[in-house]
Amino acid sequence: MSYLPSTAAGKRTAQQLSDTSRALYERGWMPGTSGNISLRLPGDSGRALITASGRDKGSLSTRDVVEVDALTGRASLPGQDRPSAETSIHAAVYRVTGARAVIHVHSPYATVVAHRAGALDAVVSVRVERFELLKGLGLKDPAFTDLPVFPNWPDVDRIADDVADRLAADREGPPGLLLADHGITTWGDSLGQAKNRLECLESLCQLLVLSRTELHVSRA
Ligand SMILES: [Zn+2]
Repeated sequence: MSYLPSTAAGKRTAQQLSDTSRALYERGWMPGTSGNISLRLPGDSGRALITASGRDKGSLSTRDVVEVDALTGRASLPGQDRPSAETSIHAAVYRVTGARAVIHVHSPYATVVAHRAGALDAVVSVRVERFELLKGLGLKDPAFTDLPVFPNWPDVDRIADDVADRLAADREGPPGLLLADHGITTWGDSLGQAKNRLECLESLCQLLVLSRTELHVSRA
């Protein structure tokens, strides 16, 4: 069943998700039906809206979203469409970071770095340093950051468990992560902040690729 918001806040949140999906699709960062975006409902941090599974992100409407429990990822209203297959990763980020918005896309440069640096069966991290754009990530020390790259397990809940463990162990880490051979996830206090951080990280990955230096990868 399509999403029918019962409140003005729900309507506004669904509109923000569909507007952002379209914008990121038009940049080529959500090809096909890939990618997913979620945002906590204002005034109710326990619930979030997330894009429904398998929808074309270039023509997403406000009805193509699902209301879920932000901390578990379970659908919170009966009879809804299926939420994104990667909802459990969003829930892991919400549980550990307190973020209000999460974006996951397949932007090309982040995906190339995730492909080159990632391992099949272990969490690694890739060093990003010196570039001015690091200042856009809100880090305590913007001189460098170690961007984690998670194995792209077929069982998404296993990825979510890895993500929750890592974020809990490194609370000073960057507001984003890579999935090996797959894509990038970022988060923030608002959809705008998560999108800004996504743009900074995609651009930093572009600089890493274009500078053609060896990637500095370590076991996390
Ligand atoms: Zn994906």
